[in-house]
Amino acid sequence: MTPLVQPRPDLSLVEGYHSPQVDVEVRLNTNESPVPPPAAFLEAVAAAVARVDWHRYPDRGATALRARIAALHGVEPAQVFVANGSNEVLQTLSLAYAGPGRSVAVFEPTYALHSHIARITGATVAEGERAADLSLDRDEVRRVLAGADPALTYLCSPNNPTGMVEAPEVVAEVLGLVPGLLVVDEAYGQFAPWSALELVGEGVPLVVTRTFSKTWSMAAARLGYLVGPSWVVAELDKVVLPYHLDALKQVAGVVALDFVGEMEARVSHLVEERGRLEAGLRDLPCDVWPSAANFILFRPRAADAAAVWRALVDRSVLVRDCSSWPRLQGCLRVTVGTTDEDDRFLTALREVLA
Ligand code: PMP
Repeated sequence: MTPLVQPRPDLSLVEGYHSPQVDVEVRLNTNESPVPPPAAFLEAVAAAVARVDWHRYPDRGATALRARIAALHGVEPAQVFVANGSNEVLQTLSLAYAGPGRSVAVFEPTYALHSHIARITGATVAEGERAADLSLDRDEVRRVLAGADPALTYLCSPNNPTGMVEAPEVVAEVLGLVPGLLVVDEAYGQFAPWSALELVGEGVPLVVTRTFSKTWSMAAARLGYLVGPSWVVAELDKVVLPYHLDALKQVAGVVALDFVGEMEARVSHLVEERGRLEAGLRDLPCDVWPSAANFILFRPRAADAAAVWRALVDRSVLVRDCSSWPRLQGCLRVTVGTTDEDDRFLTALREVLA
């Protein structure tokens, strides 16, 4: 039906964000944890939820959760902002620092939500290009920053969908160049050999975002956070909706932080499994990007990627088809799964490419 009322004209070119789901046995398309949280976590959350004051609004400042996250990273609670998934953290950053009349710099290909959220909040997006091997091109960074004077500059490390991590000296260099805030999206930070968290400080225009969706096996809960200077967190607290973070999520997050050891063990296992998956892909006629995340970008050399994707679905294996995305022609992305799922994927791909 023709809409009776038109939305903002600047939204006419914005498309929604989609991640197609297909009913399959092996789901390796959305970079989630392949396993649920530990049973003891589920029991502890159930007990904690039973103690929630359902008739009261939640703690608006998420005090307990912020304190626990701060302790995890050795910062002050005032340097932590928590929201409904790291996507909401990114949106809140855009609301506070970007918006109409300001610009946001991204280096493509990268996580689509960075530019998507910027546009929805009315900002202009300055799109820089990565080098042919999809690594960050530092001359391009200088050019874009000088030309666009962005209020927010995004790096994603490890980068989705390439899996590549930015070296410490690269992040430090970009940090020295940004005219506004540098946002390092570390949704996959736990799988990488280093973290930009070590650069965070009160006098540094840097924020690092993280999520409970991947390592913590809590994608269903929608919980993410940012670590940065307290003066940034204070601005985010001003623009976020009152009581945005419900009490159930707050207790789930606090309980999760009692299981750091278990989570670290899972990360180690997935990193090992990633090595095995990468080796398996390199044995096949595919170009493979080195990954520091829980997924791998690859390009079948002689086959049509969309046809490969379909043939994998026919074998009940779902990966992400990136082949129609700008700059990623012919590429597919596979999430590291359980050993069994990764074997099923490799066997299916071997068959399809034979
Ligand atoms: N950043 C990146 C780079 C991601 O890949 C994702 C998840 N697809 C997110 C942020 C969003 O994560 P969350 O579930 O915390 O909103």
